[in-house]
Amino acid sequence: MSFFKDALSIFKKSELIFIERVKESAGVYSFLFKKDQDLTWKPGQHGLFTITHKKIKNSTKPLTVASTPSEDVVKVTTKIGDNPSDFKSALLELEAGMKVSMSGPVGSFYLKEEGPALFIAADIGITPFRALVKQIEAEQTNSNKVKLLYLDSQNGHIYKEDFKNVDVEFLTTKEKLLQEVDAFTEQHKDNGQYFIAGPKAEVNMLAEHLKSNHVSKRSIKKDVFMGY
Ligand SMILES: Cc1cc2nc3c(=O)[nH]c(=O)nc-3n(C[C@H](O)[C@H](O)[C@H](O)COP(=O)(O)OP(=O)(O)OC[C@H]3O[C@@H](n4cnc5c(N)ncnc54)[C@H](O)[C@@H]3O)c2cc1C
Repeated sequence: MSFFKDALSIFKKSELIFIERVKESAGVYSFLFKKDQDLTWKPGQHGLFTITHKKIKNSTKPLTVASTPSEDVVKVTTKIGDNPSDFKSALLELEAGMKVSMSGPVGSFYLKEEGPALFIAADIGITPFRALVKQIEAEQTNSNKVKLLYLDSQNGHIYKEDFKNVDVEFLTTKEKLLQEVDAFTEQHKDNGQYFIAGPKAEVNMLAEHLKSNHVSKRSIKKDVFMGY
């Protein structure tokens, strides 16, 4: 039943009013939008965001909603380099009161059960974990059983304030990340839930590493950020 509900939510379309842009670190920006009363999502899910204030090619991209519904705001965070795509240039043009549209929420990258969980973020793949951590904090469940490993080789970790109350490691090397992963799998083996998000190469490498540590495929959820 939940599968069909999740699948059908792709047809829900919301107009979101832009509030403000916040610089999180070098080349990383959050965009905040007003939340419609009837819009909701499960922390960890993403929406399909469409630029509507001008005509551009590839006007729709999936972006994770990094906030929780109880924060009453739709927050997305993305990397924007010196040579941005038309989509990201258009995001940078938004001024308060302008609109984008969002279809969704979409995806199954959310917590279904309590118990030990390892959250592994590679680079901008941190976005769903902000929402998941906020949910756990608000519901006061699971927090002592969740560990967040956040790899950013540029040491530009964002959302640090949001992760004050969670067991988190801010990492800069793959070697250290794999050591931490091994420590968790050694303790929890296949009884844990494993969530990995970020660019395709990192996510797939980490999933393979977990499998080589005897974590079964069904215990691993992946959010692959195509486009990085
Ligand atoms: C489930 C899911 C969740 C995701 N969540 C997030 C998220 O939370 N945050 C996030 O940032 N991304 C997320 N993504 C990825 C996102 O959808 C984009 O693919 C990604 O942000 C790259 O977007 P882009 O517009 O820069 O990409 P592309 O259009 O692929 O551009 C890539 C690069 O190509 C160059 N380029 C492209 N067009 C032009 C142009 N017209 N002129 C000059 N240069 C150009 C630029 O250098 C640009 O940076 C998610 C993807 C999925 C599938």
